[in-house]
Amino acid sequence: MKKIFISFSISFLFCLIINAQSENEITYIKAGKLFDGKSNQLLSNVIIGIRGQKIISVNQNQELEPGAKVIDLSNSTVLPGLIDTHTHIVLHSGNYDNQIIKETPEYRALYGASNAKITLESGITTIRDVGNEGAGFADIALRDAINNGIVPGPRILTCIQPVSSTGSYNLVGYSPYITLPNISYVADGPEKIREKVRLLVKEGADLIKVYMESYEKKQLRKDLLTGAMNYTLDELKALVDESHSAGLKVAAHTYSDKAAKIAIEAGVNSIEHGLYLSEETFQLMAKKNIYYVPTLLVYEMWRDGKIFGGISDEDKIKLKNTCEEHIKTFKRALKTPVKICFGTDTFELPGTNAQEIELMVKYGMNPERALISATSLAAELLGIVDQTGVIEVNKIADLIAVDGNPIDNPAALRNVKFVMKEGKVFVNKIPITR
Ligand SMILES: [Zn+2]
Repeated sequence: MKKIFISFSISFLFCLIINAQSENEITYIKAGKLFDGKSNQLLSNVIIGIRGQKIISVNQNQELEPGAKVIDLSNSTVLPGLIDTHTHIVLHSGNYDNQIIKETPEYRALYGASNAKITLESGITTIRDVGNEGAGFADIALRDAINNGIVPGPRILTCIQPVSSTGSYNLVGYSPYITLPNISYVADGPEKIREKVRLLVKEGADLIKVYMESYEKKQLRKDLLTGAMNYTLDELKALVDESHSAGLKVAAHTYSDKAAKIAIEAGVNSIEHGLYLSEETFQLMAKKNIYYVPTLLVYEMWRDGKIFGGISDEDKIKLKNTCEEHIKTFKRALKTPVKICFGTDTFELPGTNAQEIELMVKYGMNPERALISATSLAAELLGIVDQTGVIEVNKIADLIAVDGNPIDNPAALRNVKFVMKEGKVFVNKIPITR
């Protein structure tokens, strides 16, 4: 018995030594070109030193220690891992209602793990997940499993489910006698809203999402995507106050300018979608440091019948008009100093996230600004810019690499050939040399 204990102790000690060695080992990445997440130009021939999870050096033309581990990306452009600020990771392709009614949260959590792997491998190292759509705590479980190294995936900040008012965000077209699973936490009036926020805080939410208006409840127009208002200013003020007092930011789903103005006055941290906002509203947002997450891609995919299992003729016209107005809105935003963040909402097609950057550039954003919106600016919105979104000393080593120059050609981000998250390599299509 004693003998077994001794041999166990020795092998345990040996493991500790090996682990300590790998923790102390430095890996160098040779970056042919580097976009650091903040500056407007690419640097050439940069060496990034990484120890454990952290970046320990970033230098041009640095001498390497002999015998050090080197990852040669000298024919590639290295960027910070991208941060998608609007996802629904535990939704998947196929009939939306069926996922919520027929599938268990456990099944959806496993599907989410598959989505998370695909998302990470496409270069997204962090996501802000803004609603699990009736999947219990699948998103929380996935977040924690990724953090504990059980499954691969991006770092997740999640809201669990959005807060919304009676009759608003729910499945539509069913008999009122049928009890359906909730896809939001329903609350009316400041006190009930505070109660739901408190519950979400206790359940481990990283942010609070609120539905300001909802087409599921009532559409106001046939020719454009619109929704009836869900909350008054007083209700929203209570939600923001309660969230902020728990240290959580608030993301507000809004379509109309009117809803956005209420959200801005209440002091939310970001406006999601904001389909029809005025220039004046964007100026107000800039003044109050409220971010705009336009999510252009999802509406175009919806219009083109690529998601939600196709599209009816009536919706096709509605989505065509909506996309046209949304693009005009995005162009209005570009004329103002409002901070615009990369967010996709394209849950059915994990891995397509970076195409949002192509659309932002197509509609007039300069490519450097688009890349910043997906890195340091997105990290700023999430409150984690001291940790990620930038390639500099003491930041977490979340890095990706692509062929070519993503400033000249944002489509280069469709083919990510190297992904490192927290110093660990998840994708490497380039051989490691010593
Ligand atoms: Zn969404």
